Amino acid sequence: MSEPRRKLIAGNWKMNGMADAALLQIKDLAARASKIEQPDCDVLICPPATLLREMARATVGSPVKTGGQDCHAAEKGAHTGDISAEMVKDAGGHYCIVGHSERRADHGESNAVVKAKAEAALRAGIVAIVCVGETLAERDAGQTLDVMTDQVRNSLPAGATATNTVIAYEPVWAIGTGKTPTPDDVAVVHAHIREQLAGLLNDANRMRILYGGSVKGSNAAELMAVANVDGALVGGASLTAEDFWPIVNCCI
Ligand code: PEP
Repeated sequence: MSEPRRKLIAGNWKMNGMADAALLQIKDLAARASKIEQPDCDVLICPPATLLREMARATVGSPVKTGGQDCHAAEKGAHTGDISAEMVKDAGGHYCIVGHSERRADHGESNAVVKAKAEAALRAGIVAIVCVGETLAERDAGQTLDVMTDQVRNSLPAGATATNTVIAYEPVWAIGTGKTPTPDDVAVVHAHIREQLAGLLNDANRMRILYGGSVKGSNAAELMAVANVDGALVGGASLTAEDFWPIVNCCI
């Protein structure tokens, strides 16, 4: 029997957070997490890049880790406004989200771009959280599993292992809308992603697959109990420790 996968509860603050208020929230979260002797899950906050170093410092000595929300594929150079995976690491980040649907939509990021960014994270020695998910039109057209096959196969970094890469399944129509798929629907998609990984990796059974899209305290336990759901990527409900903690707490 292989070991159970350790859950990861990750918060994505997106373009939210000013230093003083953010510091209060992350300190509150770190204090709550530090009271748990041996947490059964990993806890992560991905703040805006402007706050990463300060949030990373505030979590030292606590079980809370920090990460970036995006990175450029290159290590350095003439890319105004971008940051590299090496910079995320240098600022104290342990993870980097890549291919979030807001980046795929707002910045036209293709699977190839997402893959290159994920490879940059691996090059820098941080964990890539590779986001995949279907739009409402794709779901309505019955294409969800085909889209997952395409995105997983073409966004996964070369050299991906269960240690250096995490997948986040985030149906685009569920992000920030308060709508979620049923647990049965989530189970079908996560099983399909696991099957795709099995064709690509030696340790597919150990790779974590997070669910994301309108996770909150009131639905987290049900979603986290679904087979092949190894944690959550949380947007809105990660912005305050008060909202985020109940989600973490159901996995501890
Ligand atoms: C997200 O941005 O990754 C997300 C899942 O957002 P929300 O939890 O607000 O739906």
